[in-house]
Amino acid sequence: MAARKKIRLDVVTPEEKVYSEDINVLEATAIDGLIGILPNHAPLVTSLKIGYLKIIKKDEEFEIAISEGFMEVQPDQINVVVRTAELPHEIDLSRAEKAKKRAEERLEAKSDRVDYMRAEAALKRAISRIKVARNQDRSY
Ligand code: ATP
Repeated sequence: MAARKKIRLDVVTPEEKVYSEDINVLEATAIDGLIGILPNHAPLVTSLKIGYLKIIKKDEEFEIAISEGFMEVQPDQINVVVRTAELPHEIDLSRAEKAKKRAEERLEAKSDRVDYMRAEAALKRAISRIKVARNQDRSY
């Protein structure tokens, strides 16, 4: 049997299906580091960190900003289930920049009233959204 060249990627949040296409390569930040998934990958289940998915599809390369979640891999299918996910064109850059500033101010406040873990997570989400939005329309 010829080796598969494509693998189906489904990215879902509790609200919606954000992406569902056949792709060639996925790069994701798992809990224990960066992993690359090609078609015919061995079955795998892992947690994903706040960050982004990098997708290669034919001659296109782009990213999806994600917050925390899980990824399940089968030889012909990748299921990503995350709390939030945005394609580059869906990202409101100025909203993300404001969220980044707000989180940075909270982290600098050195006050007992600040939930630092929450502010750090908000900062990571904002940074990944900014990165993904700025990298859009890049092809190689
Ligand atoms: P904010 O403080 O701006 O709400 P947040 O990181 O707290 O940011 P989330 O709780 O992660 O926001 O997301 C809430 C909803 O808003 C999700 O549906 C998410 O996809 C969307 N969202 C958050 N920030 C952006 C953005 N900059 N552009 C587009 N959609 C966004």
